[in-house]
Amino acid sequence: MTATEQPRRDKDGRLTPAPPEWTTRPAAPFPEAAVKGLENQVQRANLRHATGTIRAKRARVVAEVDNWQDLRSAGEAIKNRTLRHLDQHLVTLEESLTKAGATVHWARDAADANRIIVDLVKATGEQEVTKVKSMVTQEIGMNEALEEAGIAAWETDLAELIVQLGHDFPSHILVPAIHRNRGEIREIFREEMGVYGTPAPEGLSEQPAELAGAARTHLRNKFLRTKVAISGANFAVAETGTLVVVESEGNGRMNLTLPETLISVVGIEKVLPTVEDLEVFLRLLPRSSTGERMNPYTSMWTGPSAGDGPQDVHVILLDNGRTNALADPKGREALRCIRCSACLNICPVYERVGGHAYGSVYPGPIGAILNPQLRGVENPIDKSLPFASSLCGACNEVCPVKIPISDLLVHERHRVVEEKKRHQLNQFEPAMMKAASWVMADHKHLEAAGTASSLAGKLLPIRTIGPLPGPLSRWTQNRDVPMVPAQTFRQWWKENHDERA
Ligand code: SF4
Repeated sequence: MTATEQPRRDKDGRLTPAPPEWTTRPAAPFPEAAVKGLENQVQRANLRHATGTIRAKRARVVAEVDNWQDLRSAGEAIKNRTLRHLDQHLVTLEESLTKAGATVHWARDAADANRIIVDLVKATGEQEVTKVKSMVTQEIGMNEALEEAGIAAWETDLAELIVQLGHDFPSHILVPAIHRNRGEIREIFREEMGVYGTPAPEGLSEQPAELAGAARTHLRNKFLRTKVAISGANFAVAETGTLVVVESEGNGRMNLTLPETLISVVGIEKVLPTVEDLEVFLRLLPRSSTGERMNPYTSMWTGPSAGDGPQDVHVILLDNGRTNALADPKGREALRCIRCSACLNICPVYERVGGHAYGSVYPGPIGAILNPQLRGVENPIDKSLPFASSLCGACNEVCPVKIPISDLLVHERHRVVEEKKRHQLNQFEPAMMKAASWVMADHKHLEAAGTASSLAGKLLPIRTIGPLPGPLSRWTQNRDVPMVPAQTFRQWWKENHDERA
């Protein structure tokens, strides 16, 4: 394929590989999805190996920094201060961007943002765009919106390309293909690359250098012919209108410099007031995410510059639930997140079930608090997420901006319970709690309840209680519950105490 060829369609008439079905229809709540993840032995082995390696690297490089705790506190303070005055900083950012020659758009939600992006790409007359790895464009489902509009969006980050060609969905914030091993990647490249562009070379092996080479050749063609690129931003500096992308491969930099039009989608919480603030985050981020002292590529751009790089620069400032999160004095702490993924790599639950179980672009501990903050706790996935944790607290210790993740999980659980009560969806749980409160309120009630249950223990000749129907099945379907003893503790104590006396 040459640089002048047009995008082609696959056998289903699509320009890009179809994502897995569960991303385009309601996914299963966490407990159901987690079972699938647990059953996937290959994924579990891949995750154990990958998260273990990154964890060890992170611990090593963090230990080198004497004032690491001070840096964390500084990151926390800057983010808190910025979020308190976010409205002012956003206005400043808009002014600076406009002054630098960029066009600023405001998007209330995903539909708004996608409409703006589709219109901007259509206005260029192009049918293809390349992308820097960007979580926010996944959050709004941009690739699918572009596909529906007849525009192909190509991932250019190596791991994102593996995920896209594999008709898959990212499983990790930083290492989207963490759940795939080399053999699987080789098969994906061999089967899919040729359908959408330059095929993988004959006899492609599982060697990382060969796999990277195949991806490089495949992507080069797209880079050379694509005139529009889409990016996110790790940070947006209000005082100068500078956007910042940090990455490891250099593909991001190709996107930011080669095309004629650059569209950046930026969540409104990415704002930092001044360039000096970057100093703290550019030290915190690489050590926390990849376990590196510095990230290999840091690209900064401040609008177009004549004769160099994209000449038409657009920035879409996206809300999509962020102001709702900001309105919650406790929940807003999740907006400090710089998407380093340290909390995923340390989480025992994530390591076993994988990222897909969280049913969203933000998996792991941060996903379990951020999704309910951004999307509310009404739908079955979001209300299951705050319970996707053992509350061990390991994530709190590694978070570079000191987000108290386990506190926020409890906070979100409380919101879920309140929401349930509001809609009276489940009468069983409040009734159980009411009964328990009556029993615990008076020792006579407790004794009476004990005597009644011990009677059941005497009458029923079983040692364990198996699966029960209705709401109790959630507790009994996966564990054997011991039968109530035929004697209460009080009765036992009385007998034995009296005997000894
Ligand atoms: S919550 Fe903290 S540890 Fe987790 S991704 Fe965000 S910044 Fe990193």
